[in-house]
Amino acid sequence: MEDREFTIESFYKFVGERKLMGARCRKCGNLMVPPRPVCPKCYSRDMEWVELSGKGIVESFTIIHVPTVLLKGREPYTVAVVKLDEGPRIPGIVVGVQDPNRIKIGDRVEVDFEEAGELPPGITWPTWPRYIFVRSSHG
Ligand SMILES: [Zn+2]
Repeated sequence: MEDREFTIESFYKFVGERKLMGARCRKCGNLMVPPRPVCPKCYSRDMEWVELSGKGIVESFTIIHVPTVLLKGREPYTVAVVKLDEGPRIPGIVVGVQDPNRIKIGDRVEVDFEEAGELPPGITWPTWPRYIFVRSSHG
């Protein structure tokens, strides 16, 4: 896995293996999720893969009433920006919440994974498995 390129495609390949991975710059320690081939802080290309805990807190969120094609039937759902315990922020859907209005900023969540599932007829774009967030049971 160490020789995978530091790209969004590699990121989703890892997601398909149920791993949330970031790239850490070996020069300055900057952690990038999703990874980038060049560190935006020091312009180094010397990176290593780091597996993330997938745990973090809801920093902001939006309740979606008009879904994208891939999520049709699941509305309303919540897309949150999650600040991972390791520092980086990533957006993701928060599932398992009956009433999206009950999500609060500061809620603890952790990552889970789901298959992309059946596509509506006529949709042919790549169906990567995706990461989602679920609310942590404690705290
Ligand atoms: Zn760097």
